[in-house]
Formats: sequence, C-alpha cells, structure tokens
Amino acid sequence: MTDCIFCKIIAGAIPSKMVYQDEHVYAFRDIHPKAKVHVLVVPRKHIATLADATDDDQTLLGYMALSLPKIAQAEGLTTGFRTVLNTGHGGGQEVFHMHYHLLGGGPMPFTV
Ligand code: 5GP
Ligand code: ZN
Repeated sequence: MTDCIFCKIIAGAIPSKMVYQDEHVYAFRDIHPKAKVHVLVVPRKHIATLADATDDDQTLLGYMALSLPKIAQAEGLTTGFRTVLNTGHGGGQEVFHMHYHLLGGGPMPFTV
C-alpha cells in the first residue's frame, strides 16, 4: 500500500465521510473544514500535483472539473461555490495527491 493518505482514504484503509464516488472520482469531507461545506474531490488515480498530470490525464481532469457542480448541487450549494486547487509547496499544497477543495454554504474564508 502506498504511503499516500488520500490513496488510503480511497481504499477505505483510513475512514472518511464520503459524499460522492464513482469509477474516477472520490469526494469526502475535509477533516478541518474552512467553510460550512468543505469537500475534497480527488481522482482515484494517484497524481501527486496538477503539475504532474500528463496529456494522458486530460479526460480525467475534465471529468473531475465537471463533477464539481454536480457535487455542489447535491450539497445544496444552489447559489454557487468556490473551488481551490493548491499545487506544490509554493501553492500551499500539503497532501500530495491532487485534489479540488469545494467550498460553500456561507462566507468564504478568504478572497482572491
Ligand atoms: P492541501 O493543503 O493539500 O490543498 O489540502 C489538504 C487538505 O486535506 C486540508 O484541508 C486538510 O484538512 C485535509 N486533510 C488532511 N488529512 C486528512 C484526512 O486524513 N482526512 C480528511 N478528511 N481530510 C484531511
Ligand atoms: Zn495518492
């Protein structure tokens, strides 16, 4: 088994509060939520960072992006939502299995 926390979560070896899953994507609640709704959306395939994705991942990345509004809708985020994708240490990434943060349901924790 890989040392990656999110691979372990996807495999069920570490418990998580799953909100959506299909053959390509696994989504679960962030353990330290920064908003009323804070979901992490990860590909089942281990890709360390967005910068490590290749042309082979083009369809998967599009699939992930298109899953976001569907998950937001299911979470009741009818007025909108924010997505954040941290890439690398310089981008504030802490878990090196790429993931979208899906945030909403109240005031945003920061502005861009
Ligand atoms: P990053 O800084 O890499 O973009 O975000 C990593 C996120 O993963 C953080 O918001 C952190 O709270 C969350 N996280 C880290 N470990 C776990 C865990 O074991 N379970 C869950 N549900 N979230 C985690
Ligand atoms: Zn992983």
